[in-house]
Amino acid sequence: MRKTIIVSNRLPVKISETDGEFILHTSEGGLATGLGAVYREGNNIWVGWPGQEIIDLKDQEKVTKELRKTNLMPVFLTQEEINNFYEGFSNETLWPVFHYMAVYAHYEQVNWDAYYQVNQKFRDIILKVAEPGDIIWIHDYQLLLLPGMIRAALPEISIGFFQHIPFPSYELFRLIPWRAEILEGMLGADLMGFHTFDDTRHFLNAASRILPVNTSANVVSFNDRAIVVETFPMGIDYDKFVALGSDPMVLQQIKNLKENFQEDRLILSIDRLDYSKGILQRLQAFELLLQLHPEYIGKVVLYMIVVPSRDTVPQYKELRDEIDKQVGNINARFRTLAWHPIQYFYRSFPVETLSALYNFADICLVTPMRDGMNLVSKEYVASRNNNDGVLILSEMAGASKELIDAIIVNPNNIGAITRAIVDALDMPLAEQQRRMKQMRQLVSKFNIHHWVKLFMTRLQEVNEMQQNML
Ligand code: UDP
Repeated sequence: MRKTIIVSNRLPVKISETDGEFILHTSEGGLATGLGAVYREGNNIWVGWPGQEIIDLKDQEKVTKELRKTNLMPVFLTQEEINNFYEGFSNETLWPVFHYMAVYAHYEQVNWDAYYQVNQKFRDIILKVAEPGDIIWIHDYQLLLLPGMIRAALPEISIGFFQHIPFPSYELFRLIPWRAEILEGMLGADLMGFHTFDDTRHFLNAASRILPVNTSANVVSFNDRAIVVETFPMGIDYDKFVALGSDPMVLQQIKNLKENFQEDRLILSIDRLDYSKGILQRLQAFELLLQLHPEYIGKVVLYMIVVPSRDTVPQYKELRDEIDKQVGNINARFRTLAWHPIQYFYRSFPVETLSALYNFADICLVTPMRDGMNLVSKEYVASRNNNDGVLILSEMAGASKELIDAIIVNPNNIGAITRAIVDALDMPLAEQQRRMKQMRQLVSKFNIHHWVKLFMTRLQEVNEMQQNML
């Protein structure tokens, strides 16, 4: 029977070990939920790294057996591979260049070699299970070479690829010494997807300038094959965030927030620690608000969650220190005995707490310098069951192409962010509701299940088109 093989760097699980036994905790992330409907069915499989180094062969066997129960298949990585392939090439070369922060990028041959080898490692595992007629859907920037590697071994197999982060303009992309190999790897797919039209256009442009290929509209002709490149903005599990609003645990937390903050207006900010998220600029804008509008002192609180991430990388550690410093300065400068302007948390929270905050916050402030999509903005919208609240959203987030009823700001324009906060605080309820309703309709319709279905259907159509061309 024809099966679907999902491939991503990380499997949708966390593993914990007690007394030599491995216990799996399945992840509840949006992508895992969306793809859950696919990989759990029949003999479908999800291939990926289980998230930690497991060296002992017996342990690897145990973990493999556990994972197999839920259709998951591990690719075990050594610590060196994690350092060079994942932290090195993926996060210190591709991530900064693709997010337009090229000054942060390193171009190390050893990291590239590891990237190549780990992509091969994924290929070898997939080749053990893939059969002619199967569908393979590969995800994200850690596996850009994989479509080409699989194509070389299985010329007829159906391959989809989706990139969850931006694709930069040609001028940035060409900084990468291995740019041609990367594009050739990606073009092993039959269907390639990006979040926005700009990403799609940038990819087509880079391919046509760097490789000897023909592109017409959204089709690339390469090695006698036609590759379709299209835009699929990813959605979230809308129903889940709606339902969380009436979960007793969430209601209790909302009650606690009300007791704590009383008449205060709450501005919510949630990100992973990353220089692409514009956290320092956001802090500056909030400081400017208190400076220019002292009437808000004692009345407005910035509730800021930063989720720890990649803090072994020096730039991330520096960013964390700088956030600590700025939060400290602002709190010291403006606090009163009864009020702190910024409630800052450097840790992650369960989804119930996030839901309570999404429900309670008057404003959600999302100002990345660059973001492939940004799911936090969509989760805030989905959680607003009363259709009130204001979203302030950076025009550099993929989500801004869809959530056009947000207050859209340029994240480098500190004054504009401050003005947007004032506008949001002053926005009449009817206007809030008009905007929020529109956004909720969109987030509801183009949810994660819709996205998965759309991509899979399109992949099938592309394969049929290719058959007809033969
Ligand atoms: N998130 C979480 N725990 C937290 C804070 C955030 O699980 O304490 C989730 C949040 O609900 C969202 C995701 O992390 O689904 C962040 O996705 P986004 O696209 O906004 O940014 P990314 O981290 O992927 O760059």
